[in-house]
Amino acid sequence: MFNFFNKDNKIKTALTKTAQGFFKGIFNLNSAVLDEFELEDIETTLIKADLGVDLSVEIVDRIKEKKVKSNELKNFLKQEFCSILDSIDNYKLKFDSNKLNVYFVVGVNGAGKTTLIGKLASRFKKQNLKVLLVAGDTFRAAAQEQLDIWAKRAGVDILIEKIPPAALAYKGIDLAKSENYDVVIIDSAGRLQNKYNLIEELKKIKNVIVDKTKNDNLETILVLDGTQGQNGISQANVFFEAVKIDSCAITKLDGSPKGGIVLAIANELKLPCKLIGVGEKIDDLIDFNKEEFIEALFEQ
Ligand code: GDP
Repeated sequence: MFNFFNKDNKIKTALTKTAQGFFKGIFNLNSAVLDEFELEDIETTLIKADLGVDLSVEIVDRIKEKKVKSNELKNFLKQEFCSILDSIDNYKLKFDSNKLNVYFVVGVNGAGKTTLIGKLASRFKKQNLKVLLVAGDTFRAAAQEQLDIWAKRAGVDILIEKIPPAALAYKGIDLAKSENYDVVIIDSAGRLQNKYNLIEELKKIKNVIVDKTKNDNLETILVLDGTQGQNGISQANVFFEAVKIDSCAITKLDGSPKGGIVLAIANELKLPCKLIGVGEKIDDLIDFNKEEFIEALFEQ
């Protein structure tokens, strides 16, 4: 049985796509020793599943080197994937009930930032925590309006003002401290068209946040669109230039057979994917779980 994340059918369906699209072909090989053509097939499958060219080539090289047989391939890949995921420490979102928890959310427009913030806010709210959203994409009125809709949906408070985003973040954290909030989630702009300004702006906001949260719990989350694959990873570099990222959230995995992106992120960006978006509804958010993810990939 497919049992990824143990939730509802939607999640199973979401990751079934990845599992089926992923390896359906390559485990049907039956010759004892993998030949050149089969190795090529494996490489293509890995690339298609979004592990990235470098990682796919590396894995196939190791298959060759170890003379892995067809019937050993599944276990070999499982081990490879496990060791990639094991190279990253912590897949759990940082949270400290004795501190103010601040999440700074970055990513390109359209990646799913607003939706993720809404889902996360709702989750914290359901845990009876006091949550404040900071509508940090201050240049796009529509972005602030969208976030406002999500705040209402989740039943949490929101700070919206037309002032520079760093000033708004400053104000938001001050407000959270003076009114005993447990969680602050700060949105940001993601206009790649104006890369220089975006980087400068994100740097400024991050500096303010770091300065204001010295004794608090801070996590900077990069939101990546799971359907964008490697393209998303290269876009991530813009955000790396600007701020230190702690973790990733992958959105839209419900529509994509490309769950391999999680491995590429661990391998290339050295970051944990902690949250997975599997739909547009408020509860369509799951915590990443390493063991279940691996099992799901190999379930057929
Ligand atoms: P932002 O510009 O980064 O804030 O992106 P939005 O949160 O506005 O999302 C962009 C689009 O992606 C919207 O149509 C969302 O409904 C959709 N979206 C976001 N997350 C998911 C997800 O996990 N699954 C699906 N299928 N759609 C999503």
